[in-house]
Amino acid sequence: MPLEIITIPCRADNYAFLVHDPDTGETAVVDVPEAAPIEAELDARDWRLDDILLTHHHDDHVAGVAELREIYPGVRVTGAAADAHRLPPLDREVAEGDTVTIGAEAGEVIDVSGHTVGHIAFHFPASAVAFTGDSLMALGCGRLFEGTAPMMWDSLSKLAALPDDTLICSGHEYTLSNAAFAITIEPDNPALVARKAQVEAEREKGQFTVPSTLASEKATNPFLRAGLAEVKEALNMVGAPDSEVFAEIRRRKDAF
Ligand code: ZN
Ligand code: FE
Repeated sequence: MPLEIITIPCRADNYAFLVHDPDTGETAVVDVPEAAPIEAELDARDWRLDDILLTHHHDDHVAGVAELREIYPGVRVTGAAADAHRLPPLDREVAEGDTVTIGAEAGEVIDVSGHTVGHIAFHFPASAVAFTGDSLMALGCGRLFEGTAPMMWDSLSKLAALPDDTLICSGHEYTLSNAAFAITIEPDNPALVARKAQVEAEREKGQFTVPSTLASEKATNPFLRAGLAEVKEALNMVGAPDSEVFAEIRRRKDAF
């Protein structure tokens, strides 16, 4: 059976994800902005916590580690080897190409540096789900705090190459403001116009807009679409390298 995914809102606008293998009963959480809401969701389902997977070192993704270790003494914490010096103490250090398992299901570690250098994503192909943290986000991508635009473009391109039906579990509820920006890049993209209306309606009702699907991101997310002729044309950048078009879209978003 596919992994069961539970989206947990934390802090102001963060998300954590419980990932449960119904066959083995094992459960992981991806990113831990705070412990309490994660513990509450585990308790409500009578699940124990076996694994914590961390995408990157920012406090709003790791702040709950110490408390969850106290509550679940056997829990195993996994994060990027490249970030071991600035993550909470890890039980397992991983890098691109390594395999992590949740219950019976194997996931692949992908380096998605850009927002930070050392940021990783976890892709579980059998369940068609990827945990992308602050790399690829719903209608957006993370700000370039540490990496370069070509680095982030390379990271996004790796994620874009996953199967279209992949569920993208990203770290924040930023979709409404991302939609307001995206429409300035592609005002005439019908898929984007429709998604913006849908996101507005969902947020109106207090619903989550995360996770999304890769197909939807490829159709509407301007950061994933920087390589397309119509986007280059809209930005007066015909013939420019994809990563430069991406950099220009990122600059505009930073100033939006
Ligand atoms: Zn971050
Ligand atoms: Fe974040």
